Amino acid sequence: MSYTGPEFDPPQQRRPRRGPLTVALAALVPGALLGWLVYEEVGGGSGAEVRTASPAPASSASPLSSAPGSASTAASPDASPHTSAGDDGKVSGTPSDRPGGTGPLKGKVVVIDPGHNPGNFRHTAEINRQVDIGTNHKECDTTGTSTNDGYTEARFSMDVAHRLRTLLERQGATVKLTRDGDSPAWGPCVDERARIGNTARADAAVSIHADGSAPGNRGFHVILPGSVHAGAADTRPIVGPSHDLGVRIAGTFLRETGEPPSNYLGEGTGLVTRTDLGGLNLSTVPKVFIECGNMRDSKDAALLTSGAWRQKAAQGISEGIVSFLRRS
Ligand SMILES: [Zn+2]
Repeated sequence: MSYTGPEFDPPQQRRPRRGPLTVALAALVPGALLGWLVYEEVGGGSGAEVRTASPAPASSASPLSSAPGSASTAASPDASPHTSAGDDGKVSGTPSDRPGGTGPLKGKVVVIDPGHNPGNFRHTAEINRQVDIGTNHKECDTTGTSTNDGYTEARFSMDVAHRLRTLLERQGATVKLTRDGDSPAWGPCVDERARIGNTARADAAVSIHADGSAPGNRGFHVILPGSVHAGAADTRPIVGPSHDLGVRIAGTFLRETGEPPSNYLGEGTGLVTRTDLGGLNLSTVPKVFIECGNMRDSKDAALLTSGAWRQKAAQGISEGIVSFLRRS
């Protein structure tokens, strides 16, 4: 997500790897929890078994233990420096926006938000400017992280965004990126990233990231907006549909990539709810973040730096979005 630099990586809370990692997936209609699916990763990521299961007990730290619309938030252990990566900024350029074609998603609008900006490292004053995210003020944007070999999260997020755009356009969707090759040298700020999705009246929005956690911490997680209502932030109408979107993306991402759910956040569910991200707090359209893996773990880094793997990641995210947009 968005660390200011490797040297600022926060201590990570390491949890023992539990049994088969599970991603609890809720099948939802807006606002109502109908049932649960658990995707069990069978060793080695060779496949995913789907079976029904009961909701996690209320005492569980799982973000899924709270129904959509609740105020519950599972603050991630790394919440502090991990600022609202991914949301926005001041944008002066024109975000990529191309008309959709024909296909099942004709008429649907998807906003893809590639986290950070490769130029943020050189514009610290600009990105450190505080912006209003409703609940409080936060930095305009952050630099994001990188692999130990220097492959930056900003490059990763843009590459996956381009692959994802191609896949969604093939389905007929109209796709807008919050930044692209012709964007300014930094940002946009998190509030602007949210605003782009809102202005586009996106049917779904997804912010693409990779984490910068401690070596040994592996796996992906999808970040869902918690319920906030303060200042310009009012996520109450989007908590339910965003949860639905996030659960679908988690399931299809796991299926396509074989990447396990995070072993350090989300209690094995691959889902984390947060209320401290401007890009989610200020969104008025269904939106989630995905942290595709941990750039600071050598095994995850080997995947994140592979073009073939990034294609699988884009495929997984795309399938989740398509599933969400075609739900009845
Ligand atoms: Zn990030």
